[in-house]
This record gives sequence, C-alpha cells and structure tokens, in this order.
Amino acid sequence: MQPKQSIVSLPVYQPGKPIEEVKRELGLNDVIKLASNENPFGCSEQAKAAILKEFENISIYPDSFSTELAAAVAEHLGIERNQLIFGAGSDEVILMLVRAFLTPGDETIMANETFPQYRHNAVIEGATCIEVPLKDGTHDLPAMLARITDRTKIVWVCNPNNPTGTIIRHEELDAFIRQVPSNVIVALDEAYIEYVTDGAFPDSLAFMREFKNVILLRTFSKAYGLASLRIGYGAGHADLIRMVNQVREPFNTTRMAQAAAVASLADVEFLNSCVTRNAEGKAYMCKEFDRMGLQYYEAHGNFIMVDVKLPSGQAFDGLLRRGVIARANWKHYPTYIRITIGSQEQNEAFIAALESVLTEAAVLG
Ligand SMILES: *Cc1c(COP(=O)(O)O)cnc(C)c1O
Repeated sequence: MQPKQSIVSLPVYQPGKPIEEVKRELGLNDVIKLASNENPFGCSEQAKAAILKEFENISIYPDSFSTELAAAVAEHLGIERNQLIFGAGSDEVILMLVRAFLTPGDETIMANETFPQYRHNAVIEGATCIEVPLKDGTHDLPAMLARITDRTKIVWVCNPNNPTGTIIRHEELDAFIRQVPSNVIVALDEAYIEYVTDGAFPDSLAFMREFKNVILLRTFSKAYGLASLRIGYGAGHADLIRMVNQVREPFNTTRMAQAAAVASLADVEFLNSCVTRNAEGKAYMCKEFDRMGLQYYEAHGNFIMVDVKLPSGQAFDGLLRRGVIARANWKHYPTYIRITIGSQEQNEAFIAALESVLTEAAVLG
C-alpha cells in the first residue's frame, strides 16, 4: 500500500494522556488531567437535558445545516445564518478550510509554536507551511506579513495562542489585516475567546464584517464544556463560508451536539460562572508560580505556559507519578509545561505536586 506522499512521515496526533490509562499504568486512584484545556466544571445542566431529549431521535440523521444552532449563533453574534459553518469541533472547520483552499505549491503561514492542526492539515494537502517564530510568546505579525507571497492562501492567527496563552490586541491585528492582500484568508482561531477579559482584545466580528477574507473559528469544547460532543464553527463572509461548505460532509455534526450547543448558548449563567472561576484559578496559579520564582506567559485562556526550569519531559513524568497529567515537549520551549486551569481543588493538587517535583529535582531549595 502506498499512501499519498505527504503523509508518509506524518505522525499520528498524540492527545493528552487519558486518565484511565494513567491510573492503570501507575496504579493511582486519583488522577487529574490538566492537559487538554477541558472545562473542569463540566457543562451546562440545560445542555445535558437537551442531549437527553435528543436520545429519542438517535436513529434519524441530524440536520445537515444545523439550522436551529445556526439561528442561535447568528443571533448571538449579530450576523446572518449563511455566515456560519459548523464542524465536528473547530478542528474540523480547520480541516475543511484547508481542504477547500490548499493544494501542493500553495503556502500557508502560521506561528511556531501554535495550535498544530493548521500545519497538520496543510501538510496532508501537500501545501508548504511557513512557520514564523513567536516573539516573546506572541505572534510576530509584521514578520508573518513579510512572508506573504503570491502563493500564500491562508494565514493563521491563534488568539489567545495555544500553547503560550498570549494575545494579539486590536490595534496590532487591525494594522495587520489591513495589509494582508484581499485574496489571502486570515483565519482567527478564537477557541478561548470566552475566557478573555483584556479590554484591548480584538473586535474580530468587526474585522469579519469589514473584510471578506477574515474567518473566525470558535468552539463549544472549551468554556462551554462540550469537548466530547465535537461541535465548533467558522464565521465569515457568506461567499467564503459557501466555499468551505462545499467540502463539508453532509452529516458532520450530531443532533446531540447541535441541541447541546443551542442550550449552552442560552445558559449565560453557567458560562459566566466558569469564566469567573477560571479567573480565580488563574490568579491562584500565578501567585503560586511567583512564590516559587517561576516565569510564565501572560495567560488569557484557561491554561498557563510556565517555565519549570527542568527538561519538560522530566517535569511531566514527575507530575504524572504524582497523579497530574500536564502537557509538555514543545520544541522551542524545552523547560516549559502547559497546564490547564482546573477547579480550585485540582489547582491546589497540581501546585503541591509541582512543588514536590521541583524540590526533588533541586530546582527549589
Ligand atoms: C481546542 C482548540 C481547538 C479546537 O477544539 P475543538 O474541540 O476541535 O473545537 C481549536 N483551536 C485551538 C487553539 C484549540 O486550543
């Protein structure tokens, strides 16, 4: 068997370690997973009720156009329904966008480090990835702009950036978007936007309205707590959305995901409480990192990238033995781990485990 050349040396995605696997392998009873930026507070009770209600219809294909959900999101954002496309997570929207636009010979520009799925999908299509190093953990937009050529099709801006958690602010993004040629798509991945409290965060909807080449990527997996249902969306000009829709599988999102997303949007109280508790958890973690003399990037999502002054694999293993699953092994950040902000109890357990690891390794006195 001979697969397409582009995938010959492509790795299979390595997700954060599952809790059950760690329990089994290390014989631990209590394991906390702070590796995948999942919502530690679950999801809305109204979403659960909506899922149960859809059980009745499990044998019926879902609405291909997610009509009800599209109406709810359109109203939420103040846009039209034909400006939205839904996917099995925003991961699938990334996949569809790449599938619709990139072919061998095309170029696509992204930061390094950033969310790996831009690169992953572009590689599969045989496109050339131009990776521009982050500057102080943040997208270097002028450097990215300088790399645009006649071949460039898509530029990715992950805001807040995963894994660093940093943001690009409105003015910087404004200056950037105005200089990007109108035939180049600017994909603004805002998977963590609900958590952002910085007043200078971009008004991306305004950019989307003004520029036909801007697409926003959002998800119900993080702040809304629906990661396992796989539901996210892209928002952009109707012409752009129609093109992405052309490569969409007919039934790519489920009834339960659509119903749960509608209910989640309506449950503002649950969302707000998650955002508040996340901010409290973030303040606690930062205070503890300060106490231990650890540097970290300004975190705007529900995770923090912290320099533990140890090879990150060693820190990861040490934490794992103490029942905490973190995320490690970024090429350009050999001593950093990325940790999801959990519940207060999880955060305290993580800090205790980290302190123990760093004391054992003589990083802390
Ligand atoms: C989690 C995440 C996504 C996608 O999550 P889905 O579950 O596929 O919606 C997209 N972009 C970034 C930066 C993420 O961290």
